[in-house]
Amino acid sequence: MNQITKLSPDDVLPLTCSRAGSCCFGNQVLLNPWELAVMADAKKMTAREFNQLYCEFGGIRLRFDGDLISNHKKACRQYVEGKGCSIYEARPLACRLFPIGRYIQNEEANYMFKGKQFPCLAECPEVTNLPTLTVSEYLAGQKTALFEEAQDAYLEMVQNIAEIAFELLLDTELASSGDTKTLAMWRDAGKKSPDILRNEIPQDWVDLILFPEVEVNKEDPMAFITLHHDLFQQKAQERFGGLENINELRDASALMLRSALFLASSIGADPKGLAEVWIAEAKNHGAKV
Ligand code: SF4
Ligand code: SF4
Repeated sequence: MNQITKLSPDDVLPLTCSRAGSCCFGNQVLLNPWELAVMADAKKMTAREFNQLYCEFGGIRLRFDGDLISNHKKACRQYVEGKGCSIYEARPLACRLFPIGRYIQNEEANYMFKGKQFPCLAECPEVTNLPTLTVSEYLAGQKTALFEEAQDAYLEMVQNIAEIAFELLLDTELASSGDTKTLAMWRDAGKKSPDILRNEIPQDWVDLILFPEVEVNKEDPMAFITLHHDLFQQKAQERFGGLENINELRDASALMLRSALFLASSIGADPKGLAEVWIAEAKNHGAKV
């Protein structure tokens, strides 16, 4: 596992950005569906258009294939020479947090940076001449709160989609039939990259995950995500409510698992680890492998 340095909210670090833009080159920035909608809105285009033009990795990561190059690394497509981020006010959580990272442990948000050395020092050593800030001050200045709330709400949506996969397996005749193929399909899904998962999920479900028909408000992620979640649940209920055939139940369960993992990837979760946790839980409830 990569080395990380854990941080507490009171830790003081050289967190005033020098605005050199180094981290807008050769970086990896994931987007959840609300962030995608917010960025698309800022560009006055649809989420689908933004996704086609500026995203890769199954449509959940920003493209860093701009014309500008720094230290052999290509710029994010949203980066403009002499100006910086062209959608600064709509930038996603990963950009707001950098150089800090965030992870959830025991349902609590924790902060860290990768490695032992503070990341900005590598390409922006001038930060040591700028005012230091506590981690809390930095997060407040970057206005991360709503974006963190969105991330947590999508984690909950991931778990609820997985719950549908569990119900299709455990609350039907599928598990009691002695079926072993469903959990094999779950395991297989955990090994797939978002590009492959996206190809294996029917287009109408991909559209529902990435481009829900919900009005976006940059100040209110919960309104968007609550409706997004409701739309997903409604469609699952309509499609799977009356399934009885074992093969159909298995396919539906695997589809929900793939959908949960695809969405999980967009918030930086580890699909393989998640799939294995869910498989263990299903086995505990009587499913077979
Ligand atoms: S690497 Fe750090 S100091 Fe440099 S532009 Fe990025 S956040 Fe600012
Ligand atoms: S979205 Fe903006 S802040 Fe984030 S990497 Fe791209 S240019 Fe930089």
